[in-house]
Amino acid sequence: MTTINRYPDREFTELREALATYVGEGVTADHIWAANGSNEVLQQILQAYGGPGRTLLGFPPTYSMYPLLAEGTGTGWVTAERAANYAITPDLAVAAIREHQPNIVVFCAPNNPTGTGLNLDVVAAAYDAFDGIVIIDEAYHEFMPDNLPRATTLLAGRPRLLVSRTMSKAFAFAGARVGYLVADPSAIDALRLVRLPYHLSALTQAAATTALKHTPVMLAMVDDIRHQRDRLLRELPKLGYTVHDSQTNFVLFGGVDDPNATFQALLKKGIIIRDVGIPGHLRVTAGTEEETTAFLSALAHITPC
Ligand code: PMP
Repeated sequence: MTTINRYPDREFTELREALATYVGEGVTADHIWAANGSNEVLQQILQAYGGPGRTLLGFPPTYSMYPLLAEGTGTGWVTAERAANYAITPDLAVAAIREHQPNIVVFCAPNNPTGTGLNLDVVAAAYDAFDGIVIIDEAYHEFMPDNLPRATTLLAGRPRLLVSRTMSKAFAFAGARVGYLVADPSAIDALRLVRLPYHLSALTQAAATTALKHTPVMLAMVDDIRHQRDRLLRELPKLGYTVHDSQTNFVLFGGVDDPNATFQALLKKGIIIRDVGIPGHLRVTAGTEEETTAFLSALAHITPC
């Protein structure tokens, strides 16, 4: 262990080993990168593979940072529409790649802010449709059903596939700022070219390595949150709202006549949810059982019968 007067291990080897163990699936430390949140991981990917004259393709509504990170790295942001239920099919993805000829494609899986899952056949089809980089942002993957395969299972033989993850959500570790990437060692090497020297502090490395040693404790809430999310999916329709199936820790619901009025009315009752700018919709994050009960009963009171 280094002391704090020294620069940290710039290869953050212990953390990469701990992350590799957490990811499993035979992944080793040379397949792992980490940075200050997955936002920084995504920015480093765009610094390495994007830039002026190059484009990133995404599928809105999706994570709002993608266009901002593209802009900040001089990368063009191009978009393609999702199907009506916010799903992406292999055909849709391949057609969008053929049309836009991007250098990089990003799939948020499951998607923020809709909660929509992504079938891995979409990832495989997109990968084969061009010779660019495919990013799968799995920030919320711990909230997916356990039996669904993760994009990390596709990594073997796909050196252009980059799976981004974070400790911010399921580990409840957002304040520590730890995101990571699982990818071919050649992609990890590319990020070494753009990272700032010593970008991960000794404190961050120590905190994350320690948190990973206590993975079961850190992930203790995931099952409870999934239950509360499923409860929201069941209960919101009883109040007259439509719900979009979710594999994340939040639920996007529609049928809201005036999203801003509903948002404000809940705020007055001390409950804050998200207006993500989708007309007629709001997004609520699953909390504890008590928080979810408080939200549902507050919403029932302000919902016109
Ligand atoms: N990807 C997605 C889909 C997100 O929702 C978020 C956080 N809102 C991030 C990445 C970034 O998270 P962090 O930088 O905390 O790892």
